[in-house]
Amino acid sequence: MGLSKTIWTNPTEYIRTVRPENPVLFFSPAVLQAAARRFIDGFPGMVTYAVKTNPSEVVIENLSAAGIRGFDVASPNEMRLIRRLAPDAAMHYNNPVRARAEIAVAVEMGVKSYSVDSASELEKLIEMVPAEGCEISVRFKLPVAGAAYNFGAKFGATVELSAQLLKRVNEAGFIPSLTFHPGTQCTDPHAWEAYIRAAAEISALAGVAIARLNVGGGFPNHRLQAVVPQIEDTFALIDRVASEAFGDMRPMLVCEPGRALCGDAFTHIAKVKAVRDDEHVFLNDGVYGALAELPLVGVIDRIEVVNGAGEKRGGPLASRIVFGPTCDSVDRLPGELMLAEDIAEGDYLVIHGMGAYSLATNTRFNGFGELTIATVLSLKV
Ligand SMILES: *Cc1c(COP(=O)(O)O)cnc(C)c1O
Repeated sequence: MGLSKTIWTNPTEYIRTVRPENPVLFFSPAVLQAAARRFIDGFPGMVTYAVKTNPSEVVIENLSAAGIRGFDVASPNEMRLIRRLAPDAAMHYNNPVRARAEIAVAVEMGVKSYSVDSASELEKLIEMVPAEGCEISVRFKLPVAGAAYNFGAKFGATVELSAQLLKRVNEAGFIPSLTFHPGTQCTDPHAWEAYIRAAAEISALAGVAIARLNVGGGFPNHRLQAVVPQIEDTFALIDRVASEAFGDMRPMLVCEPGRALCGDAFTHIAKVKAVRDDEHVFLNDGVYGALAELPLVGVIDRIEVVNGAGEKRGGPLASRIVFGPTCDSVDRLPGELMLAEDIAEGDYLVIHGMGAYSLATNTRFNGFGELTIATVLSLKV
């Protein structure tokens, strides 16, 4: 992965000048910092960043510069990254299943916030982590729709189990809190409402007042074909429902967005290697590379085609099947894409809003995956 030291005006200047043979992620620090400030100014509580979404150093550094003071980490390597780049930031270790060796690293690094969704994992924490000044959040789940895919399939305790776990957290002398994740790219703000009301119910069932409620990530990125709520409306709803549900016992709120902070700050380009029989477009990046998430959440519809001179192809659209570069037949973008009919070998497919789960999940399968990050002043093509 190369990191260009030059700051480019925009992606088209780079394309014209470099004509890159490998895929490129264009990064706008200004867009990232603006997203961070929008959360910090609007969210009624602490804003943290889910590191897994895009762990590149430029992202962590720019989020810190914009005022993000907490990070959701899931592994010792993510903890080391944050300690190195943001030494004073809080780390919330919100991966509910941990090896004992991993817990030992967290204790050593001074992590003071953990999440848990099972009795056995909670006992491990009680055994290994000093309770003094340390928070344990019980992660719960509900059968709620609204997200691009279901996060509750892997993690989260039921309401009843959560009440038992919360009691145990409190009795063991830890700071009791609750957390949930409504699912990624969650376009229905009422998912948060259902979760916040359930959190109040769990707290009442357990007879334990909670210190904090972490309302997760899941805040959506902009798509052309979907109604994406204004994030401020979702913040206002979270604020109102937290007061209604908890009354005088309202906990402090925390959120841990990934996609909504870094998604829009990157635009991806892949070169067209071949157009076969006017139907199949072959790119130099695909589902084993930076486009790994698209089969899970759907193709991002903010797509443009430019030629090697950096000029936009603006003609009529035609439906195309798009393949990645590997020899694996699943290396294909889902469905068919409406692309400029005259798309040709040597053009570039430009996808906006590609900062989340792209760099992080890029592999070297079949010898591909050479991905460059280039910093730009503007992402406009
Ligand atoms: C992945 C993850 C996030 C970030 O989710 P987004 O949908 O990208 O906002 C937040 N919290 C936890 C625990 C996660 O696993």
